Amino acid sequence: MKRRSLQAARTMTSSSRETPRSLCWFRSDLRTEDQPALAAALQNGPASALFIITPAQWQAHHDAPIKVDFRLRALHSLKADLAELGVALDCLVIDHWRDIPAALVRYCQQHGIEQVHCNREPGVNERRRDRACFTELQNQGITLVGHEADTLLKPGTVKTGSGDYYRVFTPFARRCRDLLRERPYTLTPRPTAQPPLNRAVNPIPDALPGWSVPTPEQQALWPATCSHAHHQLGQFIDTTLHGYDQTRDFPARRGTSSLSPYLALGLVSAGQCLHAALQANQGELDSGSAGARAWINELLWREFYRHLLFGFPALSMHQPMKPETAGVAWRNAPDDLAAWQTGHTGIPVVDAAMRQLLATGWMHNRLRMITAMFLTKNLLIDWRLGEAFFMQHLIDGDLASNNGGWQWSASTGADAAPYFRVFNPVSQSEKFDPEGRFLMKWLPELATLPAKQRHDPPADVRNRVGYPQAIVDLKSSRQRAIDAFAAL
Ligand SMILES: Cc1cc2nc3c(=O)[nH]c(=O)nc-3n(C[C@H](O)[C@H](O)[C@H](O)COP(=O)(O)OP(=O)(O)OC[C@H]3O[C@@H](n4cnc5c(N)ncnc54)[C@H](O)[C@@H]3O)c2cc1C
Repeated sequence: MKRRSLQAARTMTSSSRETPRSLCWFRSDLRTEDQPALAAALQNGPASALFIITPAQWQAHHDAPIKVDFRLRALHSLKADLAELGVALDCLVIDHWRDIPAALVRYCQQHGIEQVHCNREPGVNERRRDRACFTELQNQGITLVGHEADTLLKPGTVKTGSGDYYRVFTPFARRCRDLLRERPYTLTPRPTAQPPLNRAVNPIPDALPGWSVPTPEQQALWPATCSHAHHQLGQFIDTTLHGYDQTRDFPARRGTSSLSPYLALGLVSAGQCLHAALQANQGELDSGSAGARAWINELLWREFYRHLLFGFPALSMHQPMKPETAGVAWRNAPDDLAAWQTGHTGIPVVDAAMRQLLATGWMHNRLRMITAMFLTKNLLIDWRLGEAFFMQHLIDGDLASNNGGWQWSASTGADAAPYFRVFNPVSQSEKFDPEGRFLMKWLPELATLPAKQRHDPPADVRNRVGYPQAIVDLKSSRQRAIDAFAAL
């Protein structure tokens, strides 16, 4: 049966030596360098490439329109990069992942593909999709080969002495550093070009029906090419890395790399980032420049959340990491939620951050923590509503990091903020935006106030400049949250 269908597939296409027998199936790894699946596909003769556009699935996963647009633009750029390697990038539109296995089989049969290569992804739905594809392809004599390109270390290989997944970041990071010292991350070399194949492929759409397109100004903030990602990485390493530990918490400064959208869709790999940081730090993982160490630590937070997502499938299914926190009596407060979503809570740093998110598709990490903690503690609103809203608006929306960040802020996650340590958003604002420059940028109505007043303007000043009164009292709402958690 297997042999017959493969034979049929072969006879459907030309049997010339130029016919690609291998396919690289791109997903969240939209690059040609440090790309094990592409390298493997090209290793055994001619290869072609495929991306599957899945609008309904992306909707179900709350992908933001700005992220979908970034992805489509990145695909156009990937197509050009692949053309330099002589590889044609085809695309299919299939609404749901559940329909991919059958469609992939049909596609492989039509094009005489014998082997499909892809890089694994850690989420549950992604793994189910791949398992189903593996089985259906195998039934037709076609091989699906998974590679690792998403993380520095293969998920499932960083375990405690007793064989468990780490639930605490510091020992996890220590173990990662040990492993990376023992077996340094090796970059997969860029494949050599094959003679170009003139094969008709489906065009990559510029936009998808039903998805709004960001403004040209928004698009210009995030050029969707690998070369831009590398330029940005290089510039960050040259100008900011060594002071990162000092600058990273100040949202008015350009103190972080802003590489997250590129990492989320794989225009640059975590391994490429690590290599660049190590090169600037004499190869040291945990000594040398404090800035480089701090940045590598952040790459390891990314790693931590991916390994957790892989190890605890419940995280992909809206479950808290700490089961006892499933009983928190979250408030049903749609007006408060709407005020938070639109940046009208009357807490300036929260509102400025939310307006940055809505305008640019990105938010500074310190502000993600402040806004998430404000929603889950001061407003006592379920973290899942915040998690979904972030995904719906972030250009770097990423299940593992977003879920990890939300569960950290809500005190429901692995190694999360203790529930009694609630950020005071006004003190955070005074500490990390002392001159109120970030506030001034996103809340122009406060720009005329003295810097000190911007963090928490008096009631009469708010009325005068047209800025809302706070929707919640910070002190009593903090206590309400602590009581709700203490009651568990
Ligand atoms: C509530 C909340 C939600 C978040 N949602 C996302 C998300 O959807 N997608 C996302 O990529 N990050 C998310 N983060 C993590 C972090 O805020 C962003 O990765 C970071 O702000 C991106 O900016 P940067 O690229 O300049 O980071 P840099 O400071 O330059 O760090 C380099 C890279 O390390 C990784 N990284 C840095 N900090 C973290 C962190 N705390 N957790 C995990 N990875 C990290 C990112 O890939 C980042 O690009 C979230 C954090 C919180 C608190």
